[in-house]
Amino acid sequence: MEYIKRKSLLYKSGVEYADYGLNHVEGCSHGCNFPCYAFMIKKRCGVVKTYQEWIQPKIVENALELLDAELPKLKDKIKCVFLCFMTDPFMYKQPEITDLTLKILARLKQDDVKSTVISKGIYPKELLDKSIYNENNDYGSTIVSLSEDYRKKFEPGSAPIKERIKALKRLHNAGLKTWVSMEPYPTPNIVKQDVREILKAVSFVDKIVFGKWNYNKRISAQPSSKNFYNSMAGYVIDFCNKRGIEYHIKDGTISEGCLSEEKVNKDQIDFYLKSTQSTSSSKAMLV
Ligand code: SF4
Repeated sequence: MEYIKRKSLLYKSGVEYADYGLNHVEGCSHGCNFPCYAFMIKKRCGVVKTYQEWIQPKIVENALELLDAELPKLKDKIKCVFLCFMTDPFMYKQPEITDLTLKILARLKQDDVKSTVISKGIYPKELLDKSIYNENNDYGSTIVSLSEDYRKKFEPGSAPIKERIKALKRLHNAGLKTWVSMEPYPTPNIVKQDVREILKAVSFVDKIVFGKWNYNKRISAQPSSKNFYNSMAGYVIDFCNKRGIEYHIKDGTISEGCLSEEKVNKDQIDFYLKSTQSTSSSKAMLV
C-alpha cells in the first residue's frame, strides 16, 4: 500500500443529500469500468495517469490528523458527511482502508456528525461497536445486478454481491439505516435480468436510489432505452410505494412526457419485465 499526504480532508459537496464529503484514499481497487466517474475526473485532472495506477489505492496517511484539525471548526455547520464521492471506503480485501474508515467514522461520531456511506465492499461487524455505531448514519451498497458474471466484468475488484447484501442486512438487523443504489442500471443488451429479483433481494432497505447508465455506447445501442428506463423506474417506484420504502429516481432516468412518477404504466412495465428476463430461468444472464 502506498501513502500520500493531503492539505485538507473535509470539503463542501454541493449536493443536497450530504453537504460535506471526504476522500481518505486516492484510487480504488474495485476498478469499475462503466467507466468510473471518479477515475475519469482524476485522469482528466492529471492526478492519475492510467487505469492500472487507479486500481492501486493510496491511503491519505494524515487523514485523521486533518479531521482532528478541521472538525472543531466545521462540526456545527455540517449536516452530513458523504464517504466517499471519489473512492470506496470499504474496498474489498483492503484491511488497511477498512481500518482507517472505521477510525474516521468513530471520530465523526465523537463530534456527533452524521455520515452517509456507500460501498461495493463488505460492511464489517465493527460498525456495530459502541464507539462507531451511530443510528443517524446511512449505509448503502450498489446493487445493479445479482449476476456474478456481470460483477466480474464491470466491477472486477468489488465484493461478491451476495456477501454485500448479507453484510448490509446485518446492519439493518442491528437497527441501522440502509439503502441501495441501483445505478448505473444495465440495459438488456448488457445483462438479461429481472428487476423484481434484485428488488426482492434488497427489500429490507430503507431507501432505493435508481438511475440510468451514462457514458457507455452500449446503452445508446439498446433499442428503446428510454422506454426501458421509464419502465424500470416505474417498477421501482411502484415496488417502493407498496412497501413504504423511500425512493429517489436520478435526474435524466425518466424521459419527460413518457412516465410521471405518479402514473406507472403497468402494460409497459410488464412488457419489459418479460422481455428482459433470461430465457432459462429468473437467473440473470450476461449478454
Ligand atoms: S467502487 Fe466507486 S470509486 Fe471505486 S472504481 Fe467503482 S465506481 Fe469508482
